[in-house]
Amino acid sequence: MSSEVKVNELPKCSFCNEKARYDFATRIGPWAFACERHYLQWRAYADLGTGQGQRLVLADQSN
Ligand SMILES: [Zn+2]
Repeated sequence: MSSEVKVNELPKCSFCNEKARYDFATRIGPWAFACERHYLQWRAYADLGTGQGQRLVLADQSN
């Protein structure tokens, strides 16, 4: 199970103009990128993992 994915650049949140921190399955079906706030609002599953969602981590940073 993987709950993190490394990216070179954070994409934009699908619901606002902030940088996305998650790529996840939404309650309405499709996957989306979203910031922390919209991830909590739209996530289909309470946990991250394969088929549920991943946290986006910048490849050149430790967090
Ligand atoms: Zn957002």
